[in-house]
Amino acid sequence: MHISSRIADMKESATLAVGARAAALKAQGVDVIGFAMGEPDFDTPTSIKRAAIEALESGMTKYAPTPGEKTAREAIARKLREENGIACKAEDVTITVGAKHAVYMALQTMIEPGRGDEVLLPTPAWVSYRPLIELAGAVCVEVPGSMANGFRATAEQVARAITPRTVGILLNSPSNPCGIVYPVAEMRAIVDVIAAHPKIAIISDEIYEKLIFPEIAAGIAHFSPGSDPRVAERTVTINGMSKAYAMTGWRIGYMCAPGDQGKFIREVIKLQGQMTNSIASFFMPAVVQALSPATAGEVESMRGAFAHRATIIHALLSTVPGFETVQPTGAFYAFPNIAQLFGKRSPAGRVIDSAQAFSEALLAEAHVAVVPGEDFGACARGHVRLSFACSQAQIEKGVARIDAFVRSLVPAATASTASVSRA
Ligand code: PMP
Repeated sequence: MHISSRIADMKESATLAVGARAAALKAQGVDVIGFAMGEPDFDTPTSIKRAAIEALESGMTKYAPTPGEKTAREAIARKLREENGIACKAEDVTITVGAKHAVYMALQTMIEPGRGDEVLLPTPAWVSYRPLIELAGAVCVEVPGSMANGFRATAEQVARAITPRTVGILLNSPSNPCGIVYPVAEMRAIVDVIAAHPKIAIISDEIYEKLIFPEIAAGIAHFSPGSDPRVAERTVTINGMSKAYAMTGWRIGYMCAPGDQGKFIREVIKLQGQMTNSIASFFMPAVVQALSPATAGEVESMRGAFAHRATIIHALLSTVPGFETVQPTGAFYAFPNIAQLFGKRSPAGRVIDSAQAFSEALLAEAHVAVVPGEDFGACARGHVRLSFACSQAQIEKGVARIDAFVRSLVPAATASTASVSRA
């Protein structure tokens, strides 16, 4: 069968690929420590599970309206109004098969293929953004955030990257893979730049919104660009249940696009109606339950655990020779630079000449899974991502293995001539 170039040219998700390799090793009985998957180790809060079980048992097993039941959309709209300051109503919301589906549909709906549309992407950025931007037919224009500036792109950089072809900017704070949060003033400065360009839409992926650590960086807070009236009409806010409520496997995300008298969201829902229809109907009460005040305590206790782990992993990684790190202040990722190790060779003879080579050698020889930085953007090539959504014991054991592995590396030139294929 023919494979379209659209799909053949698309990269596989690097995070899922490493996760699958680690899982295959585990299945062979190898004791792998997994820092690859961006998935909380906690179970979904019981009250959310109960809401779905009760809905299922009560016969809620039929098709639901494509964008979701009114009650669930209303709960989302209320959350966005009250917590995020976004002026919206239930009709402005659609519930999607994970936030990933929402990002896909937003890009498909706003990009005109063949016109040379450009989408700005502050990097390092989540691995799926570039493939989804390109699949929709746009050029992905990276706006690199330097490590010296805490991985954050500046408003000046954004202003310089804008051309007459720019149709959108994709923002993600707290950030995957950087584990950082844009200070409100810096996010506002970026919004100021976009406000002056009426043709540029904002996609704001706020999936890590609840995972912010003011105990590490006093005063940091979340800011939703969609709350600024100057850009509210052209901002698409994306969020979901996966991270804050430990619901990755449920596949529940959502999108809110209140602008354009509802035209944009109606077109998104048209696409969704031809694509997936609604999410599983008996999840609707679970959405309402997740967003109710009843779960706030559990969300907060998971957030507190991630904050604690952020401190521990940063302290541990800072002592690994050749690792340069930025303290994570949100989400659950550390993103050290390891470029100082390039040019070395592993005990089994693997040449470490890239983050990819380092990650492969580390998994094969020390049984620790990390995600190489290459697919997070050009400026991320010397980095690896560690998700610390795992226990403190795993973090300590895993970083000890990384430390021992790094200390066992020798300069490539003086190493034995043994060579191991990286295939
Ligand atoms: N956005 C970002 C920044 C993410 O890190 C992820 C998950 N890795 C998603 C969206 C997708 O989340 P989901 O589809 O599980 O809701």
